[in-house]
Amino acid sequence: MILRGIACALILAGSLRAAELRGYVVCLAEKDGKFVANHEHIYGFKTTEGKTYKLVRAKLSEALFVDKRLHEKDLLLKGTADGDKFEPTAIHSVKNGVVCEVYYWCDICAIEAVAPEICVCCQGPVELVEKPLK
Ligand SMILES: [Zn+2]
Ligand SMILES: [Zn+2]
Repeated sequence: MILRGIACALILAGSLRAAELRGYVVCLAEKDGKFVANHEHIYGFKTTEGKTYKLVRAKLSEALFVDKRLHEKDLLLKGTADGDKFEPTAIHSVKNGVVCEVYYWCDICAIEAVAPEICVCCQGPVELVEKPLK
């Protein structure tokens, strides 16, 4: 129990902080637009201030790794920054100056998904939706 208390205190005292980042997805292996043949992309996020974070892959950030359409977008990510790592917990896009919620939708089942996989319910395709936030 004592050890556990210490571990918790260390986490709280660490560099974890809630952050909101505006920018776009980049591949950290292809820095400065240089071409690198046959490599596994290392996804990161470059903010409008010019800072680059390595993206942490998790359930809520999966779409940023697998959906190339999101790589073309101006994004606003909410999540937790830990040094130069960032774990997104919400993905928003900025479309014509309007902040939109980004998610995937199955028309047949009318359910939402966080990643562009097949629908968990009907196994059909899901579509990418950008819905303006109120
Ligand atoms: Zn790459
Ligand atoms: Zn479905």
